[in-house]
Amino acid sequence: MNRKLESKVVLVTGASSGIGRATALALSTAGALVVAAGRRTENLQELVEEAPGEMLAVELDVTDRESVDRAVAAAVERFGRLDALVNNAGLMLAGMVVGANTDEWVRMVETNLLGSMFVAHAALPHLVETHGAFVQVSSTSGRIASAGAAVYSATKFGITAFAEAVRQEVTSRGVRVVVVEPGFVETELTDHTTDPVMRDAADQIGRSMRTLQPEDIADAIVFALTQPEHVSINELLVRPTDQV
Ligand code: NDP
Repeated sequence: MNRKLESKVVLVTGASSGIGRATALALSTAGALVVAAGRRTENLQELVEEAPGEMLAVELDVTDRESVDRAVAAAVERFGRLDALVNNAGLMLAGMVVGANTDEWVRMVETNLLGSMFVAHAALPHLVETHGAFVQVSSTSGRIASAGAAVYSATKFGITAFAEAVRQEVTSRGVRVVVVEPGFVETELTDHTTDPVMRDAADQIGRSMRTLQPEDIADAIVFALTQPEHVSINELLVRPTDQV
């Protein structure tokens, strides 16, 4: 991999597993100074040890506004600037609407929608200063809704809309906005679903195809971030070839 991101400071949320972890490593390999954020700090410490370049682990709960502000401040304090945000932290609790436990809806909205918005709010002033980039990880579920993923889809449609509005607000100030919409990626995402029928269905879908690996999405993010400054890749829909 080339080192086109040499000395760029990038904050990755949800870096303790899956897509965020792979992205943090890929960015580090490309020369970036990575701030890896999440709640599971022991996972983040392991990641820092594995990273080929300088990396800072920062505890972050995106649902807690003070935690968000502290994490962004820690990144800027350590490296003096912020060139990109990969707003990746997210949660999927699949289930039908009829008979749902609505506490799960609150958790998804607070994490995927409000949490992502809080992180963007804290990071954007720094990105305006550096003419940086804002990468929002949405989903194919942010384009196509399906039964069993109503609330997850609603959060992803919502955050895609938010990112497009942010793009219109900041593109003339030199900030590039990239929405990434992965299809089925093999990660821990489906493990949190409490409904056993939904979990079995997800496992079955996973076994029925050659799923994406977290590194596939990390590569797409690095691709977007390594374009020349006048090139803004606004949307990347990346699905497994086998996913209809
Ligand atoms: P993982 O479950 O492996 O990763 C989710 C990450 O989000 C974890 O690192 C977790 O860290 C973090 N996270 C969750 N809640 C919070 C919180 N309150 N505060 C801070 N961090 C939090 O799944 P993926 O890697 O698959 O998911 C990453 C993103 O990709 C999500 O936004 C997901 O919706 C999206 N996506 C995934 C797809 C897939 O098929 N896997 C498809 C389309 C989109 P910690 O627990 O340490 O806080």
